Amino acid sequence: MRYCRFQLNGVRRYGLVEELHGVEFITRAVESAPNSANAFDGAQPLDIPLGEVRLLAPIQPSKIVCIGRNYREHAKELNHPIPTEPLFFLKPPSSVIGPGDDVRRPNHLSQRVDYEGELGVVISKSCYRLEDSDDVRPYILGYTCVNDVTARDLQNKDGQWSRAKGFDTFCPVGPFVVDGLDPWKGVRVESRLNSELRQNGTTVDFLFPLDVLMRFISQVMTLEPGDVIATGTPAGVGPMQSGDTVEVTVEGIGTLRNPVVNIEQ
Ligand code: MG
Repeated sequence: MRYCRFQLNGVRRYGLVEELHGVEFITRAVESAPNSANAFDGAQPLDIPLGEVRLLAPIQPSKIVCIGRNYREHAKELNHPIPTEPLFFLKPPSSVIGPGDDVRRPNHLSQRVDYEGELGVVISKSCYRLEDSDDVRPYILGYTCVNDVTARDLQNKDGQWSRAKGFDTFCPVGPFVVDGLDPWKGVRVESRLNSELRQNGTTVDFLFPLDVLMRFISQVMTLEPGDVIATGTPAGVGPMQSGDTVEVTVEGIGTLRNPVVNIEQ
C-alpha cells in the first residue's frame, strides 16, 4: 500500500497511489485518514494522474514524537554523549507541512536552521503501555519521510527543544505513506541540499530499534492513529539558507522536497 493526501478542485482526500505503465495515478480515494492497509477497499476506482493534484502532508497527527540522538555518529558530530535510553521530544501538529511547501526560516530569531532527514513511522491504532511481549508491527500503519527542521542555535541556547523544533513549517512530511518496509533489516535515509548528498544513513544503525522506541514512548503517552514517530537523524546535519532546496529520500518511499525561504526578507 502506498497512499498520499491530495487536493483537487478544492477538495482534500487521501489517495491510493499506483503505477500504471510507468505513470503514477491515484486509483482510489477516501475522505478519512486510512488506518489499515485495506482502507481503500470498496472506494470507487479512479485514474487521476498524480501530477495533476497538489500533494499535502499524508498525515494529520495529534502529535509528532521525535527521537533525539538515535544514531551514534550524529550524537558524536554534535558532541553529545551516547544516550543509554531513548530520548524523545514533541513537535506540534502546527509544524507540519507537505511536499513542495516552503520551510520558513525564522531569521528574525535564529541564525542557524538545520535539516534532519528521518524515517517517520505512522501509527495505525491506539497503543499505550506496550509490553516486552507485544509485537509492535500491528500498531504500524506505514512509513514516510520526515524533515525534523531545527533552529540549532536556539536548541543549544534554550536547554529544551520546544522552540527550536516547533516553529510553523519545521516538520515537512511525505510524499507518501508506504507499508512493507523493514527498519529492523535496514532502510536507507538520505538528505540532499541543492541536490548534493549530505546525509546517508541506514536504520540498522539505530541505537534503539523501533520496537524499543515504541514501547518506551507508550509507557508515557498514548500513541494515536495517524501519530508519527520521527526516528532520529543520521550524521551530516547542516544549515539551510533562503533559496535552498532540501530533500529527504527514504528507500522504498520516495523523496520529500521543500524550498527554503526566510520569514523576513
Ligand atoms: Mg531529529
